[in-house]
Amino acid sequence: PDVPVGAILAGAARRWGDRTALHHAGRDLSFTDLARASARFAHGLIARGVGRGDVVALHLPNVPQFAIAYYGTLLAGATFSPCNPLLPPGELAFQLADCGAAVVVTLDLLAGSVAEALGRTKVRSVVVAGAGGAGAPADVAGLCDGAFAGCGVAFEEVGAGRPEEFPEVEIDVRRDLAHIAYTGGTTGRSKGVMLPHRNVVVNTLQFACSGTGSVPELDGHGGLTIRAVGPEGEYPTPLGEGVIVSVAPWFHAMGTVGYLNSQFMTGTTIVSHPRLDVPAFLADMERFRATALGGAPAMFSALLADPSFADRDLSSVRGVRSGAAPLSHEMIARLHAAFPDAVVVEAYGLSEVTMGATANPTHRSGVRRTGTVGVPVPDVRVKIVAADAPAVDESTPALPPGTEGEVCVHGPQVMAGYLNRPDETAAVLSPDGWLRTGDVGVLDEDGYLSIVDRKKDMLLYNGYNVYPRELEEKLLAHPAVAGAAVVGRPDPKAGELPTAFVVRSGEVTADELLAHVNAAVVHYKKLREVRFVDEIPVSAAGKVLKRELRASL
Ligand code: ATP
Repeated sequence: PDVPVGAILAGAARRWGDRTALHHAGRDLSFTDLARASARFAHGLIARGVGRGDVVALHLPNVPQFAIAYYGTLLAGATFSPCNPLLPPGELAFQLADCGAAVVVTLDLLAGSVAEALGRTKVRSVVVAGAGGAGAPADVAGLCDGAFAGCGVAFEEVGAGRPEEFPEVEIDVRRDLAHIAYTGGTTGRSKGVMLPHRNVVVNTLQFACSGTGSVPELDGHGGLTIRAVGPEGEYPTPLGEGVIVSVAPWFHAMGTVGYLNSQFMTGTTIVSHPRLDVPAFLADMERFRATALGGAPAMFSALLADPSFADRDLSSVRGVRSGAAPLSHEMIARLHAAFPDAVVVEAYGLSEVTMGATANPTHRSGVRRTGTVGVPVPDVRVKIVAADAPAVDESTPALPPGTEGEVCVHGPQVMAGYLNRPDETAAVLSPDGWLRTGDVGVLDEDGYLSIVDRKKDMLLYNGYNVYPRELEEKLLAHPAVAGAAVVGRPDPKAGELPTAFVVRSGEVTADELLAHVNAAVVHYKKLREVRFVDEIPVSAAGKVLKRELRASL
């Protein structure tokens, strides 16, 4: 349906009303409360001259003010741009200037980096929210009079006394940008991905409906909702009964689409945690009878390794969904054992497709293929092309099933382009809408996609392609290995030598691991060196930071 993102909140508020939308630091915010607070925030922005064409940057962790400011911005007709709250001031300044933010919403505890970044941007107002329960909050009024004198305003003041009805704002859902989302920056400087309202609504529906047997429905009052169809018991958790504990960053695509919009559309309560405190996370999963668990593999490793895991009753969990980074066979087996009553599925996506492109179905009778990232979500086509193809569009032939190549995606949630970067846009997006993902993958006969690795992470050993993921899988299968990442060490003769960084969970030597891996691979893929480390660096979204590992070689 051609409705703006605000229709998701309108539909959820009408349908789920007093049910808790967000539980944070001991406080509940119902769907009605969230809709009213967002409407007030939107009117407050409009009164300050912020609307269509303006960008509001959110520099916040997962706190309720994030959800209010997110929907408030979109209801005002403005564009939302999330910033990782841990960005150093230089990178924050780059991002705020690049997206042309007029307003930044930050937290008192994070105000320092914003104050440092402001000078190089066009920001006219800084909205400061109080951290409340999260430690000793700084004085919001003091900040508004001090560091942000002349442009600072307290979060509560924006919406104070404003109407609780959604403002009437004209939005062109195919052109007006809902999000300018910065890519993770795993492989280079992050780029602003332009996503119109329609992309966000479509991708939310693709995930809320696909493989759950639900269909979209307009509620007659401008609200968008979904209706379950199909036999009873098909859905692991009935609509309006889900609970999920969330630590996945909302500033990432997985957060706004996979959490805020998708969970609210299904009437799921989100228990939010601004940072991963494993024992507290597990305690809340038990206390709130969490029905689902979602995140990146690095988070699952941390949860399963915690000593308190075994003591928790997590039998309420019906669904586990992984995304953002490769899920090893080893971890899939551990998740099945840890959550025997749950459907364990993997999905795949990237910022350039709003959030997701493929998924394994979650309904009981859906066919899941373990080790694959599933099939394209509705209205999406995926084709595999030769990785060295000079350009890709509708006419580029697809490689046959079983052949590795670059994964290309076509669908209504594919980005409009990178902001301010026509050349980089043209390099990955054809005029007829085919996106090159930069990932190497393979489709099977039935259309299930497997991700082999990122093109940029591939190593060249004496002219042969080596995909680190294959070696990482072999390392992770060793009982004394808790974590592994393989990168190429530059070598004048061979080009790159496959080198592993390994976190041990038991007694094992480097030579034993080399022998373990190398007995199982062809000569040119052999691992040449193993280095033991205490941890593998991962980004906030749970992706291994191979750049950092390469730099340490
Ligand atoms: P940048 O493009 O700036 O380096 P990034 O690639 O980290 O940033 P994201 O859009 O956050 O940007 O990440 C998308 C990438 O994550 C995909 O291209 C893919 O490599 C990886 N990914 C996502 N889901 C999966 C999955 N299920 N299995 C393997 N890899 C995945």
